[in-house]
Amino acid sequence: SKEAIVIGSGIAGIASAIRLTKKGYAVSVFEANSYAGGKLTSIQLGNYRFDAGPSLFTLPHLVDELFTLCGKNPRDYFAYQQLDILCHYFYEDGTILHAFSDQSKFLNEIESKLNVDSMPLKKYLEHSAYLFERTRHSFLEKSLHQFSTYLSLDILKTVSSIRKLNLFDSMHEVNNKRLNHPKLIQLFDRFATYNGSSPYKAPGVLSSIPHLEFGVGSYFPIEGMHHILTACMTLAEEIGVRFHFNERVKNIQTVNRKIKGIETGKGFYPADLIISNCDVKQSYNQLIPEHKSPKKTMNQEPSSSALIFYWGINRSFPELDVHNILFSNDYKKEFEAIFEENTVSEDPTVYIHVSSKVVTGDAPEGKENWFVMINVPANQGQDWEKLRTCVRKTIIKKMNRILKTDIESLIEEEDYLDPVRISDRTNSFAGALYGASSNNRMAAFFRHPNFSKINGLYFAGGSVHPGGGIPLCLLSAKIATDLIPSL
Ligand code: FAD
Repeated sequence: SKEAIVIGSGIAGIASAIRLTKKGYAVSVFEANSYAGGKLTSIQLGNYRFDAGPSLFTLPHLVDELFTLCGKNPRDYFAYQQLDILCHYFYEDGTILHAFSDQSKFLNEIESKLNVDSMPLKKYLEHSAYLFERTRHSFLEKSLHQFSTYLSLDILKTVSSIRKLNLFDSMHEVNNKRLNHPKLIQLFDRFATYNGSSPYKAPGVLSSIPHLEFGVGSYFPIEGMHHILTACMTLAEEIGVRFHFNERVKNIQTVNRKIKGIETGKGFYPADLIISNCDVKQSYNQLIPEHKSPKKTMNQEPSSSALIFYWGINRSFPELDVHNILFSNDYKKEFEAIFEENTVSEDPTVYIHVSSKVVTGDAPEGKENWFVMINVPANQGQDWEKLRTCVRKTIIKKMNRILKTDIESLIEEEDYLDPVRISDRTNSFAGALYGASSNNRMAAFFRHPNFSKINGLYFAGGSVHPGGGIPLCLLSAKIATDLIPSL
């Protein structure tokens, strides 16, 4: 059979390996680290377990699909639950909003806590669903870069409704027009951060993102986010994918614009097909430097990165849920700090994720594992140690104020992740979480396609079409492998 090589074992790399095996290829995955998963990994600090990267899980059927494709029952490998509460939102003036997944409960919550009519919100959620349904076939599930996509009925429908898609307004403008309370506007502006962008710059069509949580549902794996990865690894190994850990790919060898194989520290491996799951900018810079790189992709602004503190907290907080947001007072200023001044805001919005609320083994009884994250710019050589020390103080003060406690004295385990560590550990350009930002109306079209001008070289992962985040990474693997005929 023919040999396929996947460079990188991020979630899109593993999904690609599974799909290529199903297509009849003999697949080998080469991974620079000693472990699989890239950003989707897990760490242990004393008796606390933390999901190191992603914590929000939507569209779980995209994971299930990998198992059914291989004739397996996904529930034999991996289970998840739907969350009744999407998020607890805390504002500096003491307001706390509970985003219930049940829409009527959420609408009631907004009426009673904000004292406003909930009809605009109801309509907003309908519009979000409309945007999602109108764009998903053409923007998310197909290659945007192939002529055939533009001949489909879906894209004709998309184009015919283009005026309603808010492509030319910013997400904030759409939210500001459609919602009737500043707190709601801030709540829905936040969804721009789901792909590492600013609501003041990202196109309004991204107001489709809330539909994923409020319409389709937010889920959480019974054994934590990392289990998405380990379940897929088990499947990949069962169907015969071979893994080479601690083996960084140094370059891709080509002859006359056709791939021949890869070179690692251990030698040359021939291949008939390569899927690079390595960040696309790094792929061009490091793996095929002799080939011309596509300017539009290389010049795209990176998405935001993150600064995360993993804290073992020796008490439990009933006022917190799995997902919690402590909002900044001035959201506009916060995004200006990130995307214009390339620094960290003086009053950053703090996200606290507590997986031990649903995965009881993640923290000792009566204690909690806090994943405390703020959005920060991609790495441009900022003094991250200084910024981290400063942020730690600021956010502890903020949490003490809002949760009325002394957090510092409760921290019994601690570690952190910053843009430098993210780029060192996953080879992501500048430590960006989601490849390129969507801070540009044309970003979706400038994102690199899942194929390349080099015969036999494809791309899958968060830095290429359709974008970052687990669901889109899984779709990128699907789109890339759909371009490859079965043997
Ligand atoms: P990556 O995870 O980027 O992995 C790439 C792999 O390739 C790495 O293992 C790397 O070592 C390997 N590699 C690179 N170069 C080479 C080479 N030359 N040779 C061999 N191996 C190589 N997404 C969500 O859906 N929900 C969230 O809540 C969410 N929150 C996030 C929070 C954080 C802190 C982070 C970091 C990310 C978050 N994301 C979230 C984004 C999500 O984690 C990523 O989009 C996704 O995991 C990226 O997967 P990937 O397949 O692109 O590969």
